Amino acid sequence: MVVFELERYATEDGPGIRTVVFLKGCNLRCTWCQNPESHLIKPQVMYYKNQCVDCKKCVAACPTKSVSHVIPFGYITDHNTCILCGACVDACFYNARKIIGEEKSVEALFEEIMRDRCFYEESGGGVTFSGGEPLLQADELSVLARMLKKEGIHTALETAGHVKWEAFQKVLPHIDLVYHDLKHIDSQEHKTYTGVPLEQILSNISRLSREHGNVIVRIPVVPGVNDDPAAITSMMEYITKKTAVRKVELLPFHRLGAAKYEGLGWIYQMAAVQNLAKESCEPIAEIGRGLGLEVQIGADQEGQES
Ligand code: SF4
Ligand code: SF4
Repeated sequence: MVVFELERYATEDGPGIRTVVFLKGCNLRCTWCQNPESHLIKPQVMYYKNQCVDCKKCVAACPTKSVSHVIPFGYITDHNTCILCGACVDACFYNARKIIGEEKSVEALFEEIMRDRCFYEESGGGVTFSGGEPLLQADELSVLARMLKKEGIHTALETAGHVKWEAFQKVLPHIDLVYHDLKHIDSQEHKTYTGVPLEQILSNISRLSREHGNVIVRIPVVPGVNDDPAAITSMMEYITKKTAVRKVELLPFHRLGAAKYEGLGWIYQMAAVQNLAKESCEPIAEIGRGLGLEVQIGADQEGQES
């Protein structure tokens, strides 16, 4: 499996204390994505401009001439030609370069996750698979999730749902809780802001909610994209009428991922958009509550399941 981060002692993505396994590779390109390093499934060299002293040792060390100085970013890697040899990382004495993403066997990941078993047991926690899109690695994920369930570990999945239903079928028997994103309800707008059509996602949410029973819909609230009352009302109405989901989490936009885009040499399209305060989401939360949904602003910290 290709993993780009293993976050231990996490408390926001499911009940209790958890390990969040961030899997690399995503088939959406949401303009507000806070984890751009998850987009490509292969590992990538990340550059940290604030630590760079402009010595150019990385340029000299690269055997494929993949490092070049790109304005305004700095010493950026061409991910198309990089062979991930690590020479530029070793040559940098200032820790301004790092390879993000690592291939790990299912067994190695299982062992790593199980190191914190006592925390899961004491807190009612477990493991959350996030990304990227974890279901792009559904075959391996189903094996890992099954191994964890066999040990009595609680499992949660975060997905954007732009996959065939067969991918869900592989993992769902071993997953206790699913967080499913819904980013827009207008098909054209959805494609504009995420790069993919909406229809399969809606179909998956609906079927998932009927067949699994423990599904929370997460709506990233993004200024100028989906935060107007009409768009939110349409999303909430869809959830109440077409799915069996009864709990929604609104995730206010923040700019935490901005520096990562620069480190990859990519333009951050949300540069002009400011963080959205939690309180600003109260009026739109009320829209959902008025329709009978339980609506929470921010990720689940209490371990409440729908
Ligand atoms: S990892 Fe190797 S190939 Fe890739 S940019 Fe660095 S030196 Fe070049
Ligand atoms: S080797 Fe490190 S410090 Fe030197 S130019 Fe490259 S990234 Fe910057």
